[in-house]
Amino acid sequence: MPPDAAPLIGRWIDHFKCEFKISRNRNSKFGDYRPPFGGKGHRISVNYDLNVYAFLVTTVHEFAHLHTWNQHQHKVKPHGTEWKENFKKMMQPFFEKDVFPADVKQAIVAYLSNPGASSCTDLNLYRSLRKYDAPKPDAVTVEKLPFKAVFKLKDGRVFRKEEQLRKRFKCIELATRRVYLFSPVAEVELVREAS
Ligand SMILES: [Zn+2]
Repeated sequence: MPPDAAPLIGRWIDHFKCEFKISRNRNSKFGDYRPPFGGKGHRISVNYDLNVYAFLVTTVHEFAHLHTWNQHQHKVKPHGTEWKENFKKMMQPFFEKDVFPADVKQAIVAYLSNPGASSCTDLNLYRSLRKYDAPKPDAVTVEKLPFKAVFKLKDGRVFRKEEQLRKRFKCIELATRRVYLFSPVAEVELVREAS
């Protein structure tokens, strides 16, 4: 994470008595929070391969879950108003320390004024965070591919990009001719420009 942010996160780990784990990459999520259960205390894990800003935003997101759980346990929704208030409050010290570049800060402020389900579901926040990832030579997002481009997933399945339907892109799996909807920011590998 940005070095200026680390001392405060360290204090939170101590203060909340949280087991903080840096995890392998999970495509389905950036991080997660588990409340005390079966003799174990608070547990937070964050993926190891996030860039420093995405790592910090995810960490604060999960600590906001912890704090909300301490206050309300299971009585409130995971990303309800109580969580949103805590997330907002807990981001403030990092704004005061100026740890974020201007574009990331702006995207976070916009997200805070209307936070959705997670850092993953706000496409603008996600795009501005992803800009700071180390470039991956073969990876490209579906929205950046030309129309009718053929691309492949990590598991080897091959698709052709079709038109955009609302937010997502219609894509056809070549082997089965079945239609799938892809998030614009899904990471794929380009096979060829058009078929
Ligand atoms: Zn969450």
